[in-house]
Amino acid sequence: MIIHHATVITFDQNNRIIENGAVHYADGIIDMVGDSASVLAAYPEDERWDAGGLILMPGQICAHTHFYGAFARGLYIPGPPPKDFPEILQVLWWRLDKALDLEGVRSSAEVCLVDAIRNGTTTLIDHHASQRAIDGSLDAIAEAVQRSGLRAVLCYEVTDRDGPDAAQAGIRENVRFRRWVEANHATHQGRLAATFGLHASLTLSDETLERCVGESNRFHIHVAEHPADEYDSLHKSGQRVVERLHAFGITGPESIMAHCVHIDAWEMALLAETHTFVSHQPRSNMNNAVGAAEITPMLRKGMAVCLGNDGFSNDMFAEMKVADLLQKVAHGDPRYLGADKVIQMAVFNNRRLAVAFFERPVGVIETGAYADLILLDYHPTTPLTPDNLPWHILFGISGTHVHSTIVQGRTLMRDRQLLTLDEAEIAARSRRHAQATWERYWAMFA
Ligand SMILES: [Zn+2]
Repeated sequence: MIIHHATVITFDQNNRIIENGAVHYADGIIDMVGDSASVLAAYPEDERWDAGGLILMPGQICAHTHFYGAFARGLYIPGPPPKDFPEILQVLWWRLDKALDLEGVRSSAEVCLVDAIRNGTTTLIDHHASQRAIDGSLDAIAEAVQRSGLRAVLCYEVTDRDGPDAAQAGIRENVRFRRWVEANHATHQGRLAATFGLHASLTLSDETLERCVGESNRFHIHVAEHPADEYDSLHKSGQRVVERLHAFGITGPESIMAHCVHIDAWEMALLAETHTFVSHQPRSNMNNAVGAAEITPMLRKGMAVCLGNDGFSNDMFAEMKVADLLQKVAHGDPRYLGADKVIQMAVFNNRRLAVAFFERPVGVIETGAYADLILLDYHPTTPLTPDNLPWHILFGISGTHVHSTIVQGRTLMRDRQLLTLDEAEIAARSRRHAQATWERYWAMFA
């Protein structure tokens, strides 16, 4: 396939914008990028897609999300409103996840996958919990991901909050799913990957952490999202959260630590030294009123701070805007962060993270990368150059501009028509499963 007559934003090493550009891909892999005339001349027999001057760029990557949170939309929470993040966990998330059955897990994943295709997010790193439907939960999600055609990294969040049997089941689910991914490459064609999920230091005992590190050398865990996590760790171990996790071997160049809002300078140094990925979710942090992570010093240390959405909409363009605004308001200084640093996180650092899980690069238009591409119906009203591109993305582009979405060469949405998923059917099923899940959730307050 040749997509031609496009403004190609490569995000490659040379950060090119190719006017009237084209990309050729075959078997899911990009094999030529250049001006339309040369690419068309090189492949005269190939199928052609005239982009009509739209922008062609790499699909977005989300470094941390929760498909299981989809049914929280519009949910009535009985009793007084939770006053802080620990109460939000107790009253909302730890009950909602227990209210999910396997069909609900599958349905809430489908809702998020539709949203991701629509908003051009082609790689998603999910962190799953459904404490009364653990066995097989990652299969239910994986099946939905495969049908969607998207790319995803899945894991189950191991926790002691519901007792030792549920903790053991969480470990089992991670291990079993990883083996399935390894053994079934032909089925998922390298679009699925597994990591090992841990909830957070504050719900994990030393014994459980010990068992987990025996099973994996890469992890996906929430870290210091609220000061409660730090105080719990100091109480349990005399160490701060990152030190405690590091002592178990949970830090490392393929591990993701989500949030890190309340880490101190020493914890930051440990994360930098171990090349651990940090994922930042500003919309979630603002919604939970947990504070603003110290992004600037982490980036200055060369740390790979990535961008996730924590279950908010899969419009990563929206997350990027908020990332910039939060730092400015938190520091009372409009010079903080800036669009270039946001792109560093959302594009370049997220891509570094994705490389840990997939065989070929994603998040870049270059020869040899997977053809994970989006077309945007965005017509710049001021000059667009490689230098000012980040500001166009922050102040001009949103998920609603996404016109077509392609993953590994397969078109999942063309001209805003979904080709792999039936949105109306998924929404109808989701309303039914959400109602049933809500009733089980409300029953926990009786
Ligand atoms: Zn999260």
